[in-house]
Amino acid sequence: MRKPVIAGNWKMYKHPAEAAGFLHDLAPLVDASSQVDIVVCPPFVDVAAAVDAARGTNIAIGAQDLFWLKEGAYTGEVSAPMLVAAGCGWVIIGHSERRQYFGETDDSVFKKTVAALDAGLTPIVCVGERLEEREAGMTENVLATQFAGGLSGLTPEQFAHVVIAYEPVWAIGTGRTATPEMAGQAHHFLREQIAVRFGDDASQTTRILYGGSVKPDNIKGLMAQEDLDGALVGGASLDPVSFAAIVNF
Ligand code: PEP
Repeated sequence: MRKPVIAGNWKMYKHPAEAAGFLHDLAPLVDASSQVDIVVCPPFVDVAAAVDAARGTNIAIGAQDLFWLKEGAYTGEVSAPMLVAAGCGWVIIGHSERRQYFGETDDSVFKKTVAALDAGLTPIVCVGERLEEREAGMTENVLATQFAGGLSGLTPEQFAHVVIAYEPVWAIGTGRTATPEMAGQAHHFLREQIAVRFGDDASQTTRILYGGSVKPDNIKGLMAQEDLDGALVGGASLDPVSFAAIVNF
């Protein structure tokens, strides 16, 4: 049995006081959801306030990125051990916005994933095709390339702690969701890639989330897909009531 994960990616929204207020509002709405891992990933500057506000609840706090070295002269960067010290348990890696605007590559995704695992963080590693790639029939090639470059170099022991998020770029923030069948096909293809590299057990136990305009009204249909183990939620994670409705699908 794979335990579902519902993770919120706040992107560059909310100040520390707003983060604390959100968590105080969210906690009672999801306190009966013991069958789901609930993760909120605020901006770095909100982490301390979010960790404080989430203490004693079933909500874990994650970050949206990290740098792969532990410390050094890297202005503006934050390391995995720093995130752990601040109270994070999770981290998003390789989000398409980081790939698109900040030069994230499969190679940097790999280094960041190793750094996260070394520090004891659970990485949510994002993969997904752009619209023109889907239209050109390249979806599986893109997923295979991102899997090979970002994840296949891990050891099986490392890979056992990875969560994957399939996020078709054309569905992120657009209101255009992949149909449950499209998502199911991509998740199935990713499980095949995992089986080839890490074996059947890993293929069956790895949690694969879907991301891309997930809302309270489409989560049920998505979760009915057998290869889909939860969601990485952007826009709808900014409101405690809609995020709770997704958690309580
Ligand atoms: C995301 O940011 O990972 C995302 C899926 O965003 P949205 O839910 O807004 O499409």
